[in-house]
Amino acid sequence: MIEYDVHLHTEFSTDSEEKAETVIEKAIELGLKGICFTDHMDLYFPLECSKKSGGDFTFDLDGYFDKLDYLKRKYMGQIEILCGLEAGLRDEIDLREKCFNEYREMVTRYPFDFVIGSTHCLEDIDPYWEEYWYGRTAEEGLDRYFDAIAQNCTYYDCFDSLGHLDYLVRYVSADATIKSIKAKGLNNISGKNTEDVFSNPELLKRLYGREIYNPADFADRIDYILRKIIEKGSALEINTAGLKYGLGFAHPKREILLRYRELGGELITIGSDAHMAVHLAYDFNAACEMLKDLGFKYYFVYKDRKPAGYVL
Ligand SMILES: [Zn+2]
Ligand SMILES: [Zn+2]
Repeated sequence: MIEYDVHLHTEFSTDSEEKAETVIEKAIELGLKGICFTDHMDLYFPLECSKKSGGDFTFDLDGYFDKLDYLKRKYMGQIEILCGLEAGLRDEIDLREKCFNEYREMVTRYPFDFVIGSTHCLEDIDPYWEEYWYGRTAEEGLDRYFDAIAQNCTYYDCFDSLGHLDYLVRYVSADATIKSIKAKGLNNISGKNTEDVFSNPELLKRLYGREIYNPADFADRIDYILRKIIEKGSALEINTAGLKYGLGFAHPKREILLRYRELGGELITIGSDAHMAVHLAYDFNAACEMLKDLGFKYYFVYKDRKPAGYVL
């Protein structure tokens, strides 16, 4: 049973309006033992994407700690409240040294329990936006994305767990999906003729992640990433937002978790990546069963940046 949700967002994040109190009340209602707030800190978020997103994915850390200290006192004895961060790592040459130094300074200065390292942007764009995929097949766009993660895993030492490794599969554009289907020579998808699929925008939405994505297509890069985090003693995050988005799997996909285990990986953290309280601990039972099925016995919760094991 998973009793801690350690990846979630509140109004401190540009893309969430949820009050921290609402999240805590919901967590208590769900019977969770603890939660870790991990609001977005994406230094040097691309300007154009900030405009479209309505914010730059940074926030006032003093205000954050003040608020969470107050809430820890308010809910003492009812639930354990941990204070974390989701740090957006950047591999661009002109940014990585600045990001490295600023994140290092941040995690030294503030008493975080837990830091997730995520790759949200590369090539000065958030690949959530379609422009990233122009002129690329899904595989080309994802190759480049996994390559950025590989570089970030090698370079940065500010994080405890690698966030949502393959989440980008859910944002592959329709055009890149069509290119990928053609390159693979597929004639039908889930019993439907590909021509019918191509002309149906609804079917194309998240189709790549649901039906086409195969981690084996990226095996070299994924292996490199898994080996690197194991070598560094970092954890791998299981992020159940993939289930919420209807992909049929949590991030990363089962084959990757199996490979992680084969390579000797044991440290896993689990989060819903909820941006609304209603999504807290999303499908945790399914994630728990899958992990046990793969042979994992424990999940880990970081407190004061140190992992504590809990039985699944
Ligand atoms: Zn993220
Ligand atoms: Zn997140």
